[in-house]
Amino acid sequence: LNRLRASLKKLTIQVYARLMEAVGASTKVIEFIDRVPKVRNGGQLAPSKLRGSIEFKNVWMCYPSRRRAHVLKDVSFKVSPGEVVALVGPSGSGKSTCVNLLEHFYETMSGQVLLDGNPIKAYDHKFLHRRVALVGQEPVLFARSIKDNISYALDNCSLEEVQLVARQANAHQFITELPEGYETEAGEKGMQLSGGQKQRVAIARALIRRPAVLLLDEATSALDSESEQMVEQATQNLHGHTVIVVAHRLSTVEKADRIIVIDKGRVVEQGRHNELMQRDGTYAKMVRRQLLGLDTSDDTEAGDSLT
Ligand code: ATP
Repeated sequence: LNRLRASLKKLTIQVYARLMEAVGASTKVIEFIDRVPKVRNGGQLAPSKLRGSIEFKNVWMCYPSRRRAHVLKDVSFKVSPGEVVALVGPSGSGKSTCVNLLEHFYETMSGQVLLDGNPIKAYDHKFLHRRVALVGQEPVLFARSIKDNISYALDNCSLEEVQLVARQANAHQFITELPEGYETEAGEKGMQLSGGQKQRVAIARALIRRPAVLLLDEATSALDSESEQMVEQATQNLHGHTVIVVAHRLSTVEKADRIIVIDKGRVVEQGRHNELMQRDGTYAKMVRRQLLGLDTSDDTEAGDSLT
């Protein structure tokens, strides 16, 4: 069911993106495709400074279409400004749901999601989506230049600014090696970029908006190993931002400041890689299964997937 839902979502986004390219989509439409909140109204809070601290406080959640199935059950955790936290757990355990709540795409049933101590629902949606940036698993690039793909969220953005964030996202090198550099056309009919390259362009696109929090949904499908290293390094470059990464790779979680393990909608463990390995609980079991190649989840094609 998860796989079917993911495929349908991907198909819808692709069809929509093509349609919009055909009619010459405005940046507003592109922003709409990136995020389709189910919650229409946010609040009015739009502070000039955001530190990027996050807290989930006894959060219970179910999706509107399945009101009886609790997807998150009494989830509590805190993330400090600038911390890099990896969410790990089996497929369907609720990792992406946590990310969805941080964008206020859905409401909680009970409990609270707090950003800098304020309920997430108090924030103005436009502000929230600019300052809490989401990089999805399969970012869509549009039939525009790479430069435009990175700077689309901003008017009057200089090439220097675009290059700065591309460097941070570890994308500058490969972009300069493309036939027309930053002017190279991307999208379906343009230059075909690998999954890892697209993700790095999407990270640059998120960074240019100077977010306080970056939410990164790591690709479950295997990237080639060079791309994988590049995306991983890009994540390491993000100091100063709070980063929450839905992690599927051992290499990512090993470097995280903290790992939060979610199983069947509950937080079952938290700590650094070594601590959790010593504890010999759920995380250690997942890692061992993976290293032995015994992962029986849906995502076995992802070489060292942690889900
Ligand atoms: P994966 O690693 O496969 O992405 P996950 O840990 O991120 O999984 P979620 O996507 O948060 O898990 O899903 C948690 C549960 O919520 C699953 O049972 C899933 O089927 C369900 N779910 C996710 N999205 C929706 C939705 N839009 N409507 C209804 N149920 C959903």
